[in-house]
Amino acid sequence: MANSCPTLTIVVPCYNEEEVLPETARRLDGLLAELIDDNHIAADSHVCFVDDGSKDRTWAIIRALRESSGKFGGIRLSRNRGHQIALMTGLLAARGDIMISVDADLQDDLNAIKEMLRTAAAGADIVYGVRSARTTDTMAKRLTAHFYYHLLRLLSVEIIFDHADFRLMTRRAVEALRQYEESNLFLRALIPLLGFKTSTVTYERAERWAGTSKYPIGKMLALALEGITSFSTKPLRLVTILGFAISLLAFICTVWALFAALVMKATIPGWASTVIPIYLVCGVQLLCVGVIGEYVGKIYLETKRRPRSHVMDTLQPLLPDLDVEPAARTSHSENPSIFVPTE
Ligand code: UDP
Ligand code: MG
Repeated sequence: MANSCPTLTIVVPCYNEEEVLPETARRLDGLLAELIDDNHIAADSHVCFVDDGSKDRTWAIIRALRESSGKFGGIRLSRNRGHQIALMTGLLAARGDIMISVDADLQDDLNAIKEMLRTAAAGADIVYGVRSARTTDTMAKRLTAHFYYHLLRLLSVEIIFDHADFRLMTRRAVEALRQYEESNLFLRALIPLLGFKTSTVTYERAERWAGTSKYPIGKMLALALEGITSFSTKPLRLVTILGFAISLLAFICTVWALFAALVMKATIPGWASTVIPIYLVCGVQLLCVGVIGEYVGKIYLETKRRPRSHVMDTLQPLLPDLDVEPAARTSHSENPSIFVPTE
């Protein structure tokens, strides 16, 4: 086997994925064996499952997988912290030369991984998996997704269209990511900030293999809002501009009213003309306060500098110095290699 082959860690965040996990593991195992045989990756390449506080048998399955093969390992978070945090925890804990994140539900096409590795071998530090078509999505999802991508672009947030969290990152890129300490995570917009040489590989997104989506509408909207408020202060600027425009309008109206009352002496007292502007201004003010509140809320959360997650359990018996105890920002920030597979 060529010595220069990189070790690959496939990071898989899992939340209540008992239905799909055995199949995912079977396919990942086959993929690793093939890639190792073809000398694309080193023999100690492995899968790192991150159990995001599942309430079903997900962790039990991961444990059984670990017992069946040294190629599987896992991290268990102490509670559900959401996909982005689970993924970040896995990436920062992974010990490979190259990390690839995939969803547990087999929507990401594992066949694209070979192409991703080739692209990385040609010098890319980050390779984005981009959907070739959104045929498996409903019309509504397609439209809202595209509207959202355009909105983000309009707000100067750098984002790759039709890319979710199926991506390759080299050790160098992950180490750069480690330095971003924010707890409001939206990796899709954070990773383009890293720079380095990037590339894309297109793939066809499949249907979820089994189980139901772990991203209900509420979680999806929260993530969408995260993407805007964590990366763009343009809404604040828009509020300021709106405030200016309304103030100017109010000033003109005041001059006109004074002129009409004092010079022309032709004022007609009217209820509507009094209350309508009051409603209007109240509405705008509330809107402005709301938007500002969004950002103040963010500052509030960030200044707490709370740890993103705590690792409750790991499946890597070979590593003696796992630092699970102290609540560091990421519980293992001192120790990037908390998962070591058996030989
Ligand atoms: N996930 C997670 N924590 C959560 C929600 C989801 O780790 O709180 C994982 C989930 O197990 C899956 C991935 O994130 O591997 C994407 O979720 P899902 O496929 O349910 O989202 P969808 O494809 O429906 O948007
Ligand atoms: Mg999915």
